[in-house]
Parts: sequence; structure tokens; C-alpha cells
Amino acid sequence: MARTKSHGSVVGKVVAITGGARGIGRATAEAFLAADAKVAIGDLDAELVAKTAAELGAKPGTQVVGFPLNVTDERSFANFLDDAEAELGPLDVLVNNAGIMPTGLFADESVEMTDRIIDINLRGVVTGARLATGRFAARGSGHLINIASLAGVSGFPGVATYCASKHAVVGFTEALHRELAGHGVGVTAVLPGVVRTELSAGANTPRWMEAVTTVDPEDVARAIVGAVGRKRPLVTVPRRLGSTLKVMSVLPYRARRVAERVTGADSAYTAPDSKAREAYHRRLTGGGS
Ligand code: NAD
Repeated sequence: MARTKSHGSVVGKVVAITGGARGIGRATAEAFLAADAKVAIGDLDAELVAKTAAELGAKPGTQVVGFPLNVTDERSFANFLDDAEAELGPLDVLVNNAGIMPTGLFADESVEMTDRIIDINLRGVVTGARLATGRFAARGSGHLINIASLAGVSGFPGVATYCASKHAVVGFTEALHRELAGHGVGVTAVLPGVVRTELSAGANTPRWMEAVTTVDPEDVARAIVGAVGRKRPLVTVPRRLGSTLKVMSVLPYRARRVAERVTGADSAYTAPDSKAREAYHRRLTGGGS
């Protein structure tokens, strides 16, 4: 990966990343390491997180550790941060990244899956926030970064509960940002559009929309590293998505819905490539993460 421009603010900092075994979490670990930070990754997939840490740590001069983590279990989360601090030093940054996105109509979603989405995508973020900001506030410094989504500011059919969880993360982040602004603690939500990872595989994103919304995990990682130490509550990736959202928000509701239907934005998750989604859903329902 190209070396990320070293922000004075992250050199030597201790960064913990949830869901760091693959996808955006892995790319984020790589970007922080390239900017000379020290990184702990945690993931439900214990085998893969150990492998990922070993791969990232193979580069001379990098300090990275990997631990098993279940963000829905407060004890597991606290142990993860304790282990990270024992290995690397006091925590400076937590990236609440772990998340899941099963696709399908809400009417077909089991109660268990609904609970799981809320537990991982929202409760996990709130738990991480509580554990990390307690440590940050005691020292008067630190930055919490919550990975939300474009689905946190708009509603997409086919991912209703996911949208609910991400809207909640955006609201939670904005409130916490304001609560902690006077205490030297930064709080930011990063809102990616569509990112090329297993989570979004098979999304039936219309071509026009792809150009505006679709990025690589490395693009999100760069934005996350760049957000540390800055006072912005919300960061969209790609950045141009922010302007698109502003334009859309001034359109009357009905005009927006018509535009989305006509352009095919409505069916990105209601009519995805089912074969491509199958592997991801198998990972989720097979007791995996
Ligand atoms: P991914 O599936 O590639 O990686 C997510 C990682 O989280 C996996 O390694 C998984 O094992 C881990 N995880 C799941 N449940 C966990 C738990 N309970 N405890 C600990 N780890 C757990 O997904 P990704 O695309 O890299 O997504 C990362 C984040 O970015 C998510 O919050 C997602 O909602 C968000 N996001 C993704 C996209 C996209 O298009 N890919 C867009 C916007 C936002």
C-alpha cells in the first residue's frame, strides 16, 4: 500500500480497531501503521485476526497485535482494550468498525438477525464508546471514530435494520461529539458510500451511483487516519458524497424518491446479485462473523 502521508497527530499513537481482520478494518490498520502508529486489531474471527496481525507485522518496524473480540460482549471488549494497552501503551484512538449488513426485505428478516444487527452495529459501538471515552476523558485526550454509512443519513430498501443501526450511530456520534468537545476528546462518524468489501458484495448499484458512491477500503482508511485530531463530527467518503447529500436534502421528499426509483438507486439492495451475496450471508449465518 502507498505510504499514507504521516499526520503529526498519529505518529506513535496507540490505535485499537474492531473488526480488523478484513475489509475496511484491515485497510485502516495498514494505513495507521504506514503513518507510524501502533495498532491493535480485534475480531470475532479469531483465526483470521491472528493471521492478519502476523501479515501486517511482517513489515520491519511495525507494531501490531491481534486479539479475539466480540463487540457485543462488554467483558470481551474491555479485555481487548486492556490487552491492547498492556502491549502498546495507553489508548489514543478507538475505531468502532465491526459491523454486519445482511440484505433482504424486513418482512423476511428473523428476530434473531434483527437483534444481531442492532447488537453489533449499535450496541457494540455504544459499548466501545463507553469504554474508550472513559479512558480518554481521564487523560483529557483521545479520539473515538465510529464507522457509520451513507445508510446512516438515508433509507435504502433491503437494508432497513442496517439503516436503523447506522442512523442511530450518526445521532449518537453527533451528541457525543458535542458532549466531549470541551474535554479534549474528539468524536467523529465516518460515512462511507459503497466500499468494495465482502459486506457489500453483489450490491446492484446503478452505474451513475457507483461513480458517486463507490470506493476502496484504502480510501476509507485514509479518511479515518485523516480524521484523527480534527474536530469534524461527520466525514463522508468519498468527500463529494457530502455535496451530493446536501443537494438531495433540499429536494422535496417525493422528488427525491422519484429520482431514486428512476435511477435504480432503490433496488441496490432489494435486487442484488444473489450468488455474490450468498458467500457473505453464509459467513453470517454459519456462526461466523
Ligand atoms: P467486512 O465484513 O469486510 O468486515 C467486518 C469485520 O467485522 C469482519 O472481519 C467481521 O468478522 C468483524 N465482526 C463482525 N461482527 C463482529 C463482532 N461481534 N465482534 C468483532 N468483530 C466482528 O465489512 P466491511 O465492509 O469492512 O465493514 C466495516 C464497517 O464499515 C462496518 O461497520 C460497515 O457497516 C461499514 N460500512 C461498510 C460499507 C461497505 O460498502 N462495505 C459501506 C459503509 C459502511
